[in-house]
Amino acid sequence: MENYKCKSVGIVGSGIQGVCTGLQLIKKGIPVTIFDRHDPLSNEFKPASYGNAGHFSPYAVLQFNRPDVLYDVPKMLVSSYGPLALKWNYIPQMFNWFLHYFKNCNKKSMMHTAKYMHQILSLSNDAYEEIFQEIDTSGLVEKRGIIYIWTNKNLKSRKLEIKVRDELGIKQKLLTQKEVLDLEPNLQPVFDAGVIYESAMHARDPHGILKKIFKLFLERGGRFIQSNVKALEQVNVDQTVIKTERDTYKFEKTVVASGAFSKTLTDQLGENIPLDTERGYHVHFKDQDKLISRPVIFLDRGFGMTPMNQGLRAVGTVELGGLENPPSKKRIEYIIKCAQELLPQLGKHEDEWLGFRPTLPDFLPILGPSLKNKNIIYAFGHQHLGWTLGAITGKIISGIVAGEKTNLDLSPYSSKRFN
Ligand SMILES: Cc1cc2nc3c(=O)[nH]c(=O)nc-3n(C[C@H](O)[C@H](O)[C@H](O)COP(=O)(O)OP(=O)(O)OC[C@H]3O[C@@H](n4cnc5c(N)ncnc54)[C@H](O)[C@@H]3O)c2cc1C
Repeated sequence: MENYKCKSVGIVGSGIQGVCTGLQLIKKGIPVTIFDRHDPLSNEFKPASYGNAGHFSPYAVLQFNRPDVLYDVPKMLVSSYGPLALKWNYIPQMFNWFLHYFKNCNKKSMMHTAKYMHQILSLSNDAYEEIFQEIDTSGLVEKRGIIYIWTNKNLKSRKLEIKVRDELGIKQKLLTQKEVLDLEPNLQPVFDAGVIYESAMHARDPHGILKKIFKLFLERGGRFIQSNVKALEQVNVDQTVIKTERDTYKFEKTVVASGAFSKTLTDQLGENIPLDTERGYHVHFKDQDKLISRPVIFLDRGFGMTPMNQGLRAVGTVELGGLENPPSKKRIEYIIKCAQELLPQLGKHEDEWLGFRPTLPDFLPILGPSLKNKNIIYAFGHQHLGWTLGAITGKIISGIVAGEKTNLDLSPYSSKRFN
């Protein structure tokens, strides 16, 4: 492998995984073409990487494959005013996902996920800092920490989260209600306590940051083709083919970074990967971003607010309902109610947005070669943490493409675990 040099790479998807991977490959001197049906520099570009809550959350090691969450799920589903919702018409299609989820919803799997999320999350901010050396992030990134608040209703879950993070050596500072209010005096005291991750940062405009990374990729010689990718294939040991609506393109290797839409392509490749989506929503309260100084997440409600350039972004909830169902008005209303519970002065909202978190049932991403086509490399399934993990994913995937050695244990991210 020592003198190996990959000759060309095609990437499907210009979300944060795609552009960060493209940039890292270009830096290694490998020619790259990114494909997306939307131009990242246009206003039509609104995937998960556009509308997320903007948290860079290296501490968020615990996911939803937890026995305590499983216990609460039925209760959450029957409540129309809850953080979790189902589109009942989609349940039959999620059957396989649920089977894998239940298999992974135990203490051992929970800790496995936490350990291997921690492995990549702990490198995530440094990977972004490297990129931030090369782009002007003024007005786009703020470092004021991130606050989580809660009521005393689900203390067993809160205790578990704090314990696991302590065990992994993650810095966290518990706060009383008064201490939260000292930091965020506009909040209504409808919660009992909280925690702050002081070294966490947030994006004031995720799309603005993505555009800067994408422009840097283009300046360094990266190519972009706006088109819908219809099919992928590895045709021989050193050639893959990407077929769009109009043309066919050949590359030595292809990276699938298509977020929640990746399953259409992996199904074609004959791998039954149980990728699905956790749908989430946002709205903006224009010019209200000064009401809080940093992101605040209300854990009991599964929702949060981030001060952004577009306004105060109220964002969250999980809706299981696939990629095709229309947006749910009720979910939007829920988010608005939650925001007004904490900040009753909030007035009219705008920009209702639905986005698709790409989620695997064990809540680890897939990072690595396809099992059947070694020149096709997967980079998807980052669920609630894909914004945080964009830069480190770019480093990991570009290393795999270039055939470099790594000290990281990448085996837990292989799609082998579902076969
Ligand atoms: C409501 C919400 C809040 C979130 N908040 C946070 C947060 O605060 N912090 C965090 O770390 N993460 C957060 N996330 C998760 C994060 O946004 C995602 O995990 C991440 O953006 C996924 O990035 P991606 O590049 O894999 O996919 P995407 O951003 O979805 O990009 C995939 C791209 O691939 C393109 N594509 C797909 N298929 C094709 C095809 N066949 N042909 C051409 N183009 C194609 C799409 O057009 C799209 O542009 C949030 C997500 C949601 C929905």
